[in-house]
Amino acid sequence: MKEIVIISGKGGTGKTTITASLAALWKNTIIADCDVDAADLHLLMQPLTKQTNPFYSGKLPNIDMNLCNECKKCIEVCEFNAIRNDFSVSKIDCEGCGTCAFFCPTGAIRLEDRHCGEWYLSETRFGPMVHARLGIAEANSGKLVTLIRKEAKQLAEKKGLDLILIDGSPGIGCPVISSITGASLVVIVTEPTVSGIHDMERVLGLTSHFQISSSVIINKADLNREMSQQIESVCKNCNIEVLGRIPYDRIVTKAMVEGNPVVEVDNGPVTQEIQSISHQIHNRLYSNQ
Ligand code: SF4
Ligand code: SF4
Repeated sequence: MKEIVIISGKGGTGKTTITASLAALWKNTIIADCDVDAADLHLLMQPLTKQTNPFYSGKLPNIDMNLCNECKKCIEVCEFNAIRNDFSVSKIDCEGCGTCAFFCPTGAIRLEDRHCGEWYLSETRFGPMVHARLGIAEANSGKLVTLIRKEAKQLAEKKGLDLILIDGSPGIGCPVISSITGASLVVIVTEPTVSGIHDMERVLGLTSHFQISSSVIINKADLNREMSQQIESVCKNCNIEVLGRIPYDRIVTKAMVEGNPVVEVDNGPVTQEIQSISHQIHNRLYSNQ
């Protein structure tokens, strides 16, 4: 089974647009949205949710006021100031360490599984999709990414499909590491700007560290040809293939606003370049078989 992950050094580089277009071109792959902190692939995939599941991670104290003698020991020992004077617990501040429960003299504090969000099994017009919604200010997105990848693999096995297309998390933190470890190929989407080059180099450092095969797409490549050339040079020096150079075109925004992958609504230079990228990815994934 192959897993291809589309990532970027930061959000807003066109990663999701490209993922959606590849899903539309390939069809019958498992689509997984692992950008759980800012999930928006569903806006283009328009999934029909078949199953909703809770996502629990970590612990949250529940104080039983029938057992509490209001000694305030819990407030005193909490390093994170998460327990208020009325003995309610701030979900934002609580780290789930359990210290309050340990020191509570009356056993009034019970640590319960923390509900952090939901994950979904859905159908789209391009194939099955696994995606999630993390609650506001909830952490543990890396754990949720791992769960989505696991569920996507199980679904692929069940459906007899051998390719999983993942919209990965941006940046270089825990969620992106969870998105890419063990992947068959990572495709980094970048833009021809100073920060685009810097972010791409940081992500390349990450994929190199984990010894994951990677390649690059330059989005809006014609907006700054000098910077695009610099990206090409960096990639050449690192022995990284540039799979494509997508030109700037307002049709991309128009398609997004309408909730469609651009390849569905246009046959111009952007679509042609993404089609070429799609062929190259397939060649990379299956050439060694
Ligand atoms: S430590 Fe226990 S008994 Fe004391 S105030 Fe907190 S919950 Fe109540
Ligand atoms: S679990 Fe830890 S962080 Fe949360 S309220 Fe108790 S002591 Fe504070």
